[in-house]
Amino acid sequence: MADKFEDGTTVSLKALVHKGSNKVIFVECVSDFLDVLFSFLTFPMGTIIKLGSKQSVESVPVQIGCMNNLYASVGNIDVQRFNNEVCRHKLLSPRNADESRCKDVKLKIDNGEFTKYFLCPDWNCLGVSEDEYLLSQYKGNLLSMYKGTRCENCGKCMDREYHLSSPSHADKYNGIYVKGLARLIVTDDLQVLSPLSGTSFSFLSKLGVTDGDITEETFNIGVSEVLNLLICSFVSKTPLTETLLKHKAEPDFITEISDPGTCTEPLMEGKTVIEEEEEIYVKLTVSKSRKIVCFAEAGEKFVNLLFSFLTIPLGFILKQMQNSSWKGCIDQLYKSVQDLGDEQCLNSNDLLNPRIFPGFSYENHLLGIEEGSEASYYYAYCRPNGVEDVLVTDKTLIPSQVRYTFHLKLMNDKSSEGFLKGPTMFTITDKLIVRPISPIFGFSILNELKVPLDDIKEEIVRVGKEEVLRVLVASIAGDSALTDAFIRQPKEQ
Ligand SMILES: [Zn+2]
Repeated sequence: MADKFEDGTTVSLKALVHKGSNKVIFVECVSDFLDVLFSFLTFPMGTIIKLGSKQSVESVPVQIGCMNNLYASVGNIDVQRFNNEVCRHKLLSPRNADESRCKDVKLKIDNGEFTKYFLCPDWNCLGVSEDEYLLSQYKGNLLSMYKGTRCENCGKCMDREYHLSSPSHADKYNGIYVKGLARLIVTDDLQVLSPLSGTSFSFLSKLGVTDGDITEETFNIGVSEVLNLLICSFVSKTPLTETLLKHKAEPDFITEISDPGTCTEPLMEGKTVIEEEEEIYVKLTVSKSRKIVCFAEAGEKFVNLLFSFLTIPLGFILKQMQNSSWKGCIDQLYKSVQDLGDEQCLNSNDLLNPRIFPGFSYENHLLGIEEGSEASYYYAYCRPNGVEDVLVTDKTLIPSQVRYTFHLKLMNDKSSEGFLKGPTMFTITDKLIVRPISPIFGFSILNELKVPLDDIKEEIVRVGKEEVLRVLVASIAGDSALTDAFIRQPKEQ
């Protein structure tokens, strides 16, 4: 199946295949493919849902926990309920804080989705002048990441498009995520291991594989296979087999019940955190006999938090879900970065602590995620031939023959106020379908779940850091996020 971003680039993988079961045991790969794998950790969840929405297993669209519902809810809620259109846009097309590095990855599943920047079309407004001194003093606030934002000076639509040009990280840091010529092996469930120290042989004997059972195969994979691999890794323990050998899904892999387990990560790692100014409460409607949350009712603060999950990089979520048992295996990738960190073959720091794109975070003290750093100034110039408008953050990249340079700052459109207008209430299903509050919707949920009215009780729960992280983990690991986060979790102390 050709993907619209497919540009024909492929990466070659050498795989050890078990003939009897027709399964990939492991693939041997160099940095090209490993960088692709590790770049997954930097993708915001909303981007993964957006890119993966067309992936299906036996024509059933792949659902990643409750995240697809959350994403669809953002699109279905009237834009009037958002603080502005930019707020909704941020959730539906979140940005990768590490995109300057991801753009050097050989197979780019989100190619064409890099941040664009927009300037006022009016040169006068940009402070164009023949006077170099005046130009150098000009500090406008006139760069937006959103087309059509109104210019703060003249009110015109900002639609003059620029792309940020930055030097290749591959040269700068000796490799993108994987250093230089490192060769590693990747198992079917995405454990990345060093090929040294006989790992592969012990791995084979553990599987009970003998010489005669195995065969070596080479695969050339492109963007659509990479996307398939990523999506499969949320719902299968054998994503390489699914992707390379085009296996039909095992029947039990669809029906397997996930158990998100416990969130064992120490919540704030000893960091001092600003006390929550305002507490968040959620009213749960619970089935007494079945011990499930039928639905919840909450104000915009809780829904802002839920929606902000879409802007969070995958690696941050995986970091919270260590030791969870679920049907996916992409958490192995995060664990591998931790384990390989010591082997000095990875540029692993950013991978272990992925950040959120500057200006995209909401209540990040609750989630404990940091924002990426924002460039303090941007410089825009027109190439001497007049053909291309270029934007850089590093002044030294501006060619000397350039006549006009604009000194710019990014417009302030932070999400810290929240995405939604308040005060307002929402109904949220266990699967995280979010709608403006509606008793009819509530009744129809009870009806669908076949929960009689005399079986329900209402519970008010307080949502703090721990609860937010539980909902976050549950929303990727299973399809009953509220039940998993508020009822199935063992009560502490
Ligand atoms: Zn203007």
